Amino acid sequence: DIPVLTIDGPSGSGKGTIAQMIARELGWHYLDSGAIYRVLAFASLKHQIPASDEKSLVQLAQTLDLQFHLDDDGLSVLLEGEEVSQQIRTEKAGNAASKVAAIPAVRAALLQRQRDFCQLPGLVTDGRDMGTVVFPDAPFKVFLTASAEERALRRYKQLKEKGIESNLSDLIAEISERDKRDSERKVAPLLPATDALILDSTELGITAVYEKVRSYCAI
Ligand code: C5P
Repeated sequence: DIPVLTIDGPSGSGKGTIAQMIARELGWHYLDSGAIYRVLAFASLKHQIPASDEKSLVQLAQTLDLQFHLDDDGLSVLLEGEEVSQQIRTEKAGNAASKVAAIPAVRAALLQRQRDFCQLPGLVTDGRDMGTVVFPDAPFKVFLTASAEERALRRYKQLKEKGIESNLSDLIAEISERDKRDSERKVAPLLPATDALILDSTELGITAVYEKVRSYCAI
């Protein structure tokens, strides 16, 4: 069996950072499932597919020309050969992603594509339904959370580091709106797997969270 570590949680909980650190350390593959939904939403704008056109969205999900490369600077994302890493990281792009992600047929179309990332020597994956739907048999599952205010503040700093200016109170509102949509949707709502380790990182730094996850995995 190929070992899988799933890290699920709301946006800005730090799951991407932790997942990348562990993937690098263990030399495992890394799947940022949220990036797939973000690119899909981005591509639907590019190809002028309205959110109501489910059939075309599903077709796009199945044929999306997408490439990921993880290096020391983070994850670079290519759509149809074009670098889109920055454009897909805005809170607007996250909100657009959560709209396409609420469509059951879109999620179904992306299932196998996500499972294909599971290759030796192992996979670290982050998202909302990694431990519940996509990799339910994963031996290691973490659910990482934090207060909405703290998560908005982290996102603000993260965007600033990338040279993207944002407004903190807008971010809190957008993150809360997205949390609500992700938690209340009928398909794959944001919920911890019953066998997940639940970690609240509101008052924990990245290193402390990383150490907790590492000792839980004990690989
Ligand atoms: O994690 P990230 O913020 O990049 O995810 C963007 C959006 O994609 C989320 O708000 C959520 O609606 C959707 N998503 C999802 N399932 C996943 C990962 C992300 O529905 N596994």
